[in-house]
Amino acid sequence: MVSLRDIAGKVGAWFATEPDHALVRARAASERLVAMVRLAIIIALVASSISFAIRSGALLLYSLVTGTVAIGYGLLLLRIATRVTATWVPWVTSALDVTFASLSIGSFVLLDAPLLVINNRVSFEAYFVAITISALRYDWRLSAFTTLLALAEYGGLAGYVALHWDLSSLVVEGQGKFSPAPFVNRLLILLGHGAGVVAVAQWARHLRLMIGTDHLTGLLQRRPFLERVDEELGRADPARSVLSVAIFDVDEFKRFNDSFGHLAGDHALEGIAAQLRLAVRTTDLVARYGGEEFVIAFPRMDVQLALERVTDLCKRVADVGLGPGGERMTLSAGVASWPADGASFEAVLNAADQRLYTAKRSGRNLVVGPLPVPLPSRATL
Ligand code: GH3
Ligand code: MG
Ligand code: MG
Repeated sequence: MVSLRDIAGKVGAWFATEPDHALVRARAASERLVAMVRLAIIIALVASSISFAIRSGALLLYSLVTGTVAIGYGLLLLRIATRVTATWVPWVTSALDVTFASLSIGSFVLLDAPLLVINNRVSFEAYFVAITISALRYDWRLSAFTTLLALAEYGGLAGYVALHWDLSSLVVEGQGKFSPAPFVNRLLILLGHGAGVVAVAQWARHLRLMIGTDHLTGLLQRRPFLERVDEELGRADPARSVLSVAIFDVDEFKRFNDSFGHLAGDHALEGIAAQLRLAVRTTDLVARYGGEEFVIAFPRMDVQLALERVTDLCKRVADVGLGPGGERMTLSAGVASWPADGASFEAVLNAADQRLYTAKRSGRNLVVGPLPVPLPSRATL
């Protein structure tokens, strides 16, 4: 039987922190953009409704009160967007956008104007804006949620009106007596728009994730790797924390390419990348550093443990046999750690690179850390 705890765990996992840092940064930037666009739209709408009220001499007090509340709301959300980066922020702001549109439509109930609820021409369009900007958060679930919430709230308002007024007596401008068909069509168009935005959000996420990713191996490219390590070290205290790094280079890969062709070489690189990915923790950062060179950063792992991990990993790659006929290929690696091997990550990477060079000069198929670790020779593999 499914327990409440299981359900809570699943719901929690849905809202869990996005593991991709680039996406988290992009989402925070989008949240700020959305907040500014929202405020600009609100100010324009309020100005237009107040000028309309002044010209027509009707609903001036109503326009002033709702306008002040709306601008206050826009300012509040701008403040949240610029200060808070928690994962709940876009969910709450999207729900508030929809609910704010519903409140604005629902306020016509208080003014005894049920037709302005059922056939609302301004705030109803705000649902479309809320759904569209939800795509900027790169999360299709958020767009689906925003769409369903808009449908539920608007449907709820219409249901309330239907219960309290006689709909058949309402006359809609240009349409004559109220009929349910145009109303249902409005809901269907809202739903269709939401479905399109869900697809856009999913594509935007896919494309955003592809930036900074190596196409052949699916690993990070060098620059985003260095940026993330920088972020990691920015948070770390050199007196108490440690970060190890390993640079790998495929041994005699040129010869492998010459013997089996570049396509087989590409497959072998994909195979190595898969082994690297399998061997690391979710907090480790793995990148394709250059042609047949890879790099792993191990946050909060001391150099001895990193050496063991890297040695195991190199043995595993050698065991798999990544050539087209199962031919084995070997790696050499250099391992260093921060802050022991340098105050900057550049210096630590340089130390790891020097050790990789030592491994190559010492005959390859070797991991060199502060102390070298010999790997089983090819003959005994
Ligand atoms: P060493 O053991 O000293 O590292 O020798 P090596 O042959 O591996 O090193 P070298 O730097 O001479 O050659 C690296 C080769 O890697 C040459 C290049 O064609 C190949 N290479 C780089 N990127 C790719 C790639 O994306 N696909 C394939 N198939 N080969 C690549
Ligand atoms: Mg190389
Ligand atoms: Mg090489």
